Amino acid sequence: MNHEQLEELRESLDRVNLAILEQINMRAEIVQQIGEIKRAQGMTRYDPIRERVMLDLIATHNRGPFPTTTMQHLFKQIFKASLDLQEDDHSKALLVSRKRQPEDTMVEIKGEKIGDGEQRFVFGPCAVESYEQVFEVAKAMRARGERLLRGGAFKPRTSPYDFQGLGVDGLKILKRVADELDMAVISEIVTPAHMEIACEYVDMIQIGARNMQNFALLKEAGAMKKPVLLKRGLAATIEEFIHAAEYIVTQGNEQLVLCERGIRTYEKATRNTLDISAVSILKQETHLPVMVDVTHSGGRRDLVLPLAKAALAIGADAVMVEVHPDPAVALSDAAQQLDIAQFHQFLDALIASGLYRERDTNADACDRYV
Ligand code: PEP
Ligand code: MN
Repeated sequence: MNHEQLEELRESLDRVNLAILEQINMRAEIVQQIGEIKRAQGMTRYDPIRERVMLDLIATHNRGPFPTTTMQHLFKQIFKASLDLQEDDHSKALLVSRKRQPEDTMVEIKGEKIGDGEQRFVFGPCAVESYEQVFEVAKAMRARGERLLRGGAFKPRTSPYDFQGLGVDGLKILKRVADELDMAVISEIVTPAHMEIACEYVDMIQIGARNMQNFALLKEAGAMKKPVLLKRGLAATIEEFIHAAEYIVTQGNEQLVLCERGIRTYEKATRNTLDISAVSILKQETHLPVMVDVTHSGGRRDLVLPLAKAALAIGADAVMVEVHPDPAVALSDAAQQLDIAQFHQFLDALIASGLYRERDTNADACDRYV
């Protein structure tokens, strides 16, 4: 007897489920018609006043046993799903997403490409300290056919008492060296006020981890006619990172490279934890090239080579490594920069491992510089 009763109740439940299903879809069809009218009239889809009226109507007619808050919550879900139905998938997809653009974006920095299928390197000191210091690193780079030169002129330091960088004078040094050795300059800009002047000297604007959600800075960078390198925030999720990139692209600048540089975790053995899976996720979700900064992610010189191998193996479009003629006396990041000999050993090791191909060193230019 009990069993029969249970079966009957279950059948009733199935009938109610099907009725609800029918009603929800009927509701969706009405929502679609409303959407068409709103679209034709250029009205925004979401109308909070109308939604309030609907929720109030549910409250006044709810006779239980569900409490009104539960009912309103359920209906909110239906409202949201209906609203999603009004927006077509294409218009909702982010500009940086693969849904919007299936092909890879290639970024060109003064003739150097990132995202063309070949893996590239960015080398250079943490901070610009002097012309001689930058020149020495650049000369070594050039001897290996490497042309993407980094260097911090505006340094966002944790302590205000630490070396803050040479500012515009630092940018001038970078440009002078780059002009002499035919290289491209990548340097961090920390405020919208510096953007214009910096663009006279840099070939790629770097937005640092600490500024990943400085939206005014992102928009200003997006308005410049220079490629941008956006670093992931210290504690930013991949979703936040992608949305920060979207800020830049919405301003019309699609020459954008994303850089995974390690995130803050409970682990203390490294300065940050390199989120290697982020590289694959970013490449799947977006069409932008992805770089890995192996200096700041580990914060340890002994990890630079293994992390670079991991980055190349997982398919990063570029790898950033800090190099200083004498790291022991560097004004910042003394513990993790490579010296010139280590720079050569680093490249040799990668070439020997088959992960990297020696670049065209242009023999003539090389003789002149080394
Ligand atoms: C840098 O690349 O110079 C730098 C400060 O890195 P991050 O913003 O990733 O800490
Ligand atoms: Mn550094």
